[in-house]
Amino acid sequence: MIKTNRLSKIFRTEEVENKALNNVTMHVQAGEFVAVMGPSGCGKSTLLNILGLLDNPTTGSYFFNGSEVANLKERNRTIFRKGNIGFVFQSFNLIDELNVYENVELPLIYLKMKAGERKRSVENVLDRMKIGHRARHFPQQLSGGQQQRVAISRAVVANPKLILADEPTGNLDSKNGIEVINLLTDLNKEGTTIIMVTHSDRDAGYAHRVINLFDGQIVTEKTR
Ligand code: ADP
Ligand code: MG
Repeated sequence: MIKTNRLSKIFRTEEVENKALNNVTMHVQAGEFVAVMGPSGCGKSTLLNILGLLDNPTTGSYFFNGSEVANLKERNRTIFRKGNIGFVFQSFNLIDELNVYENVELPLIYLKMKAGERKRSVENVLDRMKIGHRARHFPQQLSGGQQQRVAISRAVVANPKLILADEPTGNLDSKNGIEVINLLTDLNKEGTTIIMVTHSDRDAGYAHRVINLFDGQIVTEKTR
């Protein structure tokens, strides 16, 4: 599903050049659950952002189901992303002014889905993520675990083929963290490909394969 070839990313400021990714070549099969680990600042989020088309690499290529997507123009990149990829972040990234239902509906509005179909999709996913009873609440009225379930609902409501999760349990206590990992594992069992950044050995234990990054490079890859 995913093939990258020597992806590199250099962040340049006036004085310094920072090579955040250095020739990362990785393949991910459809249906895999891959964990990405490594110390803070080693390039995990940079890699995930490039895989999620939130950012472009400086050099290298990225094929998604056979299409080169690394350097799509902004508009096409956005369309491709919304149709194919769901994102989950450590800090949930919900919109405070929208209630739970509206947060989850937003990607479907971007995808121009009809109102009736949107309603069905949103209600289904909220029930599935056990947050339907909070549909009219706002993010600040929810616990961290509930907010992350809303964020996962938003990430999966359009049935993406790939979910990218950047430390999805990083702000959660152990009970809520396990619940989030179980939801991701269930989605993976139903065929969604997952790439998850984590610092937690517990979380990585659910993945089929662990990729370790150090200083922008893949240093080890272990299949479980
Ligand atoms: P991780 O997620 O593994 O903690 P990041 O991918 O966030 O690491 O960062 C990798 C390196 O790139 C770090 O040195 C970080 O400071 C730098 N970096 C990340 N984003 C930017 C940016 N937008 N501008 C400049 N430097 C950045
Ligand atoms: Mg990070």
